[in-house]
Amino acid sequence: MKRKWIRLLIILILAVALLIIVSCKPEKRRSADAKPTDAPTTAPAGPHTPAPEPTTTPEVTRAPEGPTPEPVDYSVVQPNEIGEIPIVMFHNFIENLDETTDDEFTTSFQEFEELLETLYNQGFRLISMRDFIEHNITVPAGKIPMVFTFDDGSSGQFNLIEENGKLVANPRSAVGIMIRFHQKHPDFGLKGIFYLNMDKELKTFEGAGTLDERLSFLLSHGFEIGNHTWGHFNLETAKDTLQIQETLGKNEKRLREIMPGVRFYSLALPFGGKAPQELADAVNKGDYDGVAYENETIMAVGYLPSVPSIHIDYDPTYVRRIRSKGKIDVKFDLAYWLPLMTRDRMYISDGNPGTVVVPTGMEKSVAPDKLNGKSLVTY
Ligand SMILES: [Zn+2]
Repeated sequence: MKRKWIRLLIILILAVALLIIVSCKPEKRRSADAKPTDAPTTAPAGPHTPAPEPTTTPEVTRAPEGPTPEPVDYSVVQPNEIGEIPIVMFHNFIENLDETTDDEFTTSFQEFEELLETLYNQGFRLISMRDFIEHNITVPAGKIPMVFTFDDGSSGQFNLIEENGKLVANPRSAVGIMIRFHQKHPDFGLKGIFYLNMDKELKTFEGAGTLDERLSFLLSHGFEIGNHTWGHFNLETAKDTLQIQETLGKNEKRLREIMPGVRFYSLALPFGGKAPQELADAVNKGDYDGVAYENETIMAVGYLPSVPSIHIDYDPTYVRRIRSKGKIDVKFDLAYWLPLMTRDRMYISDGNPGTVVVPTGMEKSVAPDKLNGKSLVTY
């Protein structure tokens, strides 16, 4: 008699358990699908699993379906997501270099085309400044992220021409060349940030169209714009805070007049000039004439690849750049660096922006407070 009761009780427990399992399933699926994969999250989620909801059954271990990248074989790809990221600095572009061309800051269109091919073949892939700042590295597994920066808004970098009543990028400009290269190699990326002096008005990207049309064209193609001061001011010579606020804020103010809602978030230092230490705070952020500005990265005229923004040595107020090759060879320019940017020192992606994968021992270079919800993985 007693045994019969026990048997009944077991059946009842099993039935209840089954009910719980069945009623939990759709709930789990919904949460897995609804979770945005690229948004920063504070949930203590694992590298590939969604944040679990409270549940009585500890059975789900499979990775969710959707855009989470396939796991890669680390021993093959050898990711190093604390390695260096080259940030290249370009200035002028022209058809042909001749005796009147300056020695260090001008690239011919043909050289630029060849450079893109070389960079692509060597495994470099472009990322935006925004993604560099946020360490949102989306390049495929095994590839090396790279940032392109352009100073001074010259027409060789970009200008519009009219074609059949439409404004298009001049094919004989760096942007025109990049757009064509991107059509051939979409996985190279179409990115770059243009540092502007708004006092130059229509001299910026001189050509067809208004300034608004020129900047809108760039932004709509995924490019970015940055602050290069009003008047190309050498911050090293700044006398007081007000002078810094004026040169940065005036540039910001003019941008907002032309393009309401758009703002600069990165600054390239004219001449690489760093403000005196006691005035440095005003370069990072400030106010001018009711307009606030803030620089999340401040770019130097450097000579080294940069550490990524999650590195313990990363200093957003002085980010290194490598200058592109000019007419003459200059030590530490891009041509100098290309053979030295070997896979053992560079950033090698694991293909998953949600994880930071580093060889064992390198994790001590990762700043935990900069991970921003990403999981740190060693192998
Ligand atoms: Zn400049």
